[in-house]
Amino acid sequence: MQSQKQYKPKFSFEFYPPRTPEAVATLQSTQAALAKMNPDFFSVTYGAGGSTRDMTFETVMDIKAKTGIEAAPHISCIGSQDNEIKSLLEKYIEHGISRIVALRGDLPSGSIGYGRFHYANELVAFIREQTGDHFHIEVAAYPEFHPQASSAQSDIENFKKKIDAGADSAITQYFYNPFAYYRFVDSCEKLGVDIPIVAGIMPIITCTQLLRFSAACGAEVPRWILKRLQEFGDDRVSIRQFGIDVATELCEQLLANGVPGLHFYSMNQSVASIAICKNIGIDKKIKESAG
Ligand code: FAD
Repeated sequence: MQSQKQYKPKFSFEFYPPRTPEAVATLQSTQAALAKMNPDFFSVTYGAGGSTRDMTFETVMDIKAKTGIEAAPHISCIGSQDNEIKSLLEKYIEHGISRIVALRGDLPSGSIGYGRFHYANELVAFIREQTGDHFHIEVAAYPEFHPQASSAQSDIENFKKKIDAGADSAITQYFYNPFAYYRFVDSCEKLGVDIPIVAGIMPIITCTQLLRFSAACGAEVPRWILKRLQEFGDDRVSIRQFGIDVATELCEQLLANGVPGLHFYSMNQSVASIAICKNIGIDKKIKESAG
């Protein structure tokens, strides 16, 4: 974690594009509430195989216009061709977007081909080739390793390929064990990776949702967290409060150990993210005096 300490911690929140008028209204109030935390940027996910391409674009533009805060679209490349990615990049440049989260993504079930890109490092290289230094490129990192990784070491080496291709910083999959993150960062640094590796934080909202996401993305839910959640049953208020406490302690630990930033998977909700941010003292004044 030595070289990570040089960075002033950054804070960001992730949204997904809303699909219904009710979900649009929820996101509008969430983005307004989280904007008051003065984050460095918001990011907006991209559905598998480009399924939310237009909604991602519209959501990004709406956030930028209404909050005045930088908004970064995610782009996944699997199943796409050069010209599709190229025209999307051109559209973002035309609309004043300069930060992007570049991912491989996962093929939706029933898809027949990979398209031009097999891995995210190819997308990062393509973005650099087409647009030079225009974009600040974020990539994904996996302290507990990607579910398809053939080994821990090969996953770290594959992560480095994205940095070598031109990524500027990384955001991790969420985790509840900070030691997995510290060790991952140390291993990356040993390979010469010297970009900020920002920690992804998932506030626990429901037990079912947490287990479903974790099974899909390979994040480990520690036994002690699971046992506590099971004890709460349907008591959503206690689960939320427990989730806030767990995330607060994790963030405090990470900040004390020099994490270069925290990226909150907000799930388009503001209550838990705001509570955690207040607990750890993220507000304009603290941010300005930090680092
Ligand atoms: P890669 O970095 O390409 O890695 C995927 C796998 O391939 C790994 O096992 C890796 O070890 C291996 N690999 C990588 N490069 C090579 C290579 N050159 N040769 C051989 N093997 C290689 N998904 C979405 O669909 N939309 C989103 O908006 C989205 N946002 C995300 C945001 C964050 C911060 C994170 C952490 C994940 C996000 N995901 C999103 C999920 C992500 O798309 C999946 O985890 C996907 O399976 C891998 O994407 P990646 O960019 O990490 O892939």
